[in-house]
Amino acid sequence: LDPVLAIVGRPNVGKSTLVNRILGRREAVVEDTPGVTRDRVSYSATWNGRNFTLVDTGGWEHDAKGIHARVADQAEIAADLADAVLFVVDSNVGATATDEAVVRMLRRKKKPVILVANKVDDMVQEADAYSLWSLGFGQPYPVSALHGRGTADMLDAVMDVL
Ligand code: GDP
Ligand code: MG
Repeated sequence: LDPVLAIVGRPNVGKSTLVNRILGRREAVVEDTPGVTRDRVSYSATWNGRNFTLVDTGGWEHDAKGIHARVADQAEIAADLADAVLFVVDSNVGATATDEAVVRMLRRKKKPVILVANKVDDMVQEADAYSLWSLGFGQPYPVSALHGRGTADMLDAVMDVL
């Protein structure tokens, strides 16, 4: 059975765009409006000759529990079924209260976490990613899911823990 990598993070940070980048094809649904990915969707992926299963998350409605809890719940379900977690944060926005809710949940799990600072489209924006060291998951990997910048280094780091 292939190892499972779950992609978690709040809506609109670029999880589905990153899935498509990793797959090398546009299979995951990307939307400008948050909440388009339906629940959890699995894909077969390969990096450096190693196969793994990629699980995209999202698709929750803003119900009475509120957005923090819904994002953290989805992330927790995905983290529980995964061997490693890609935690995606929007580098242009920085860590939000919702991100902090995900951080608290992920800390309780005994799973390796790779922290991704997405939307680092150019070198100038790389500085923004460094503030995410404060989340406590070690080095933030600056990537642009949209343009492919930094995703090879990120995937190498994933393979070290998967
Ligand atoms: P999700 O809700 O986390 O799955 O986010 P999506 O993948 O649907 O992307 C949300 C929006 O962010 C879309 O408009 C994407 O085009 C945009 N986006 C995703 N990755 C990047 C990136 O690396 N750079 C920029 N500038 N925009 C991005
Ligand atoms: Mg999505």
